[in-house]
Amino acid sequence: MTINSEFSLIQHYFEQLTLSREDVILGIGDDCALLQCPADHVLAVSVDTLVEGIHFFADVDPQTLGHKSLAVSLSDLAAMGAKPAWFTLALTLPEINETWLQGFSQGLALLAKQHNIQLVGGDTTRGPLTVSIQVHGLVKPEQAIKRNGAKLGDMIYVTGTLGDAGAALQLKLNQWHDENLTPEDQDYLQQRLEQPTPRLQTGEDLIGIASSAIDISDGLLADLGHILNKSQLGARLDLSKLPISPVLSKISRDMAENLALESGDDYELCFTVPPQHFAEMEQRFSGMCTRIGMITDDKGIYFIGDNDELRNLNTTKAGYDHFK
Ligand SMILES: [Mg+2]
Repeated sequence: MTINSEFSLIQHYFEQLTLSREDVILGIGDDCALLQCPADHVLAVSVDTLVEGIHFFADVDPQTLGHKSLAVSLSDLAAMGAKPAWFTLALTLPEINETWLQGFSQGLALLAKQHNIQLVGGDTTRGPLTVSIQVHGLVKPEQAIKRNGAKLGDMIYVTGTLGDAGAALQLKLNQWHDENLTPEDQDYLQQRLEQPTPRLQTGEDLIGIASSAIDISDGLLADLGHILNKSQLGARLDLSKLPISPVLSKISRDMAENLALESGDDYELCFTVPPQHFAEMEQRFSGMCTRIGMITDDKGIYFIGDNDELRNLNTTKAGYDHFK
C-alpha cells in the first residue's frame, strides 16, 4: 500500500467522527482547522498520550482503547468545569490493521458523539502504538474550577466510587486474587479500568459551588495532594467515608481502602466545597458525590481512624509516579 492510500484508508475510519458543530468553520482537510470560540469564553486545553505497554496492554480491545483515549482527556475538561468542543488526534501505528482501526474509531466516535466533541485534525505516523489526544473545551474564565481555590474549612468530596480501576489492574497483572470476586465482578472492575466515565455533567454543575477540583488519574492521595499544594493547605480524611463499590466491598476493607487512596485510573472528580454551599451540595448531588473529609491548615494529609485518632500519612507512598 502506498503512503497515500494508507492515509485515505485511515481518513475513512475517522470520517465517522466528523460531527458538524456550527463553531467549526473549517474542519479536517486543510493545514489547520478554523474554530470559533464564543466571545465570553476561553479555551480549556489538555493533552494526554497513551503508550502501549505503559498505559494499556497490547491485547486491549481497540474499541475500549478508543473510548479510554478520549475519556482521560475529557476527564480533565470535567475537572475544570469546561464543556467539550473539539479534539485532535495523533496516532502512531505499527501497521495498518483495518479491524483495529474499525474498533478504535468506533470507540472514539461513540464517546465523542455522547459529549458533542468534534475531531478537527489529526496526524498519523508509523511506529510503536501510541495515541495522543488533545481536547479543547469552552469555559467562562471566571467560572473555570482551578486547583488553587480550596480554603480552610471547605469540605472534600469525590464522585462515584474509588479503587475499582486499581483492583482491575492488579488482577490483570496477577498481583492479587480474591476468591470472593465472581467473573461478573471481575468484568465490572475491568470495565471501570478500560472504559472510565468522564464526569462532565458533574463538572459543569459544580461551577459556582466547588472552590477547587481535580480529576483522579494518579490516585486520590496524589491528586488531592495537588489541590493541597496549590492551595497551600492540608486535609483530614475520614477513611470510613471512602466510597467503595459493592464489588470492591467484597474484598478486605483494608485492601479496598488502600486501592481507593492510592491507585489511579478511576477518573472520578475530587473537589472542595465552601460552607455556604454545603446545603446545596447535599441537596443537588446526593447519591452522586461523597463527602470524605475537610480542608485544614496543617500541611499534609491526615486520617481520622476508628477511635477518632489522627494518623499521619506517609506521603512518599501517595499515588503513581510515572518516572519511578
Ligand atoms: Mg487531570
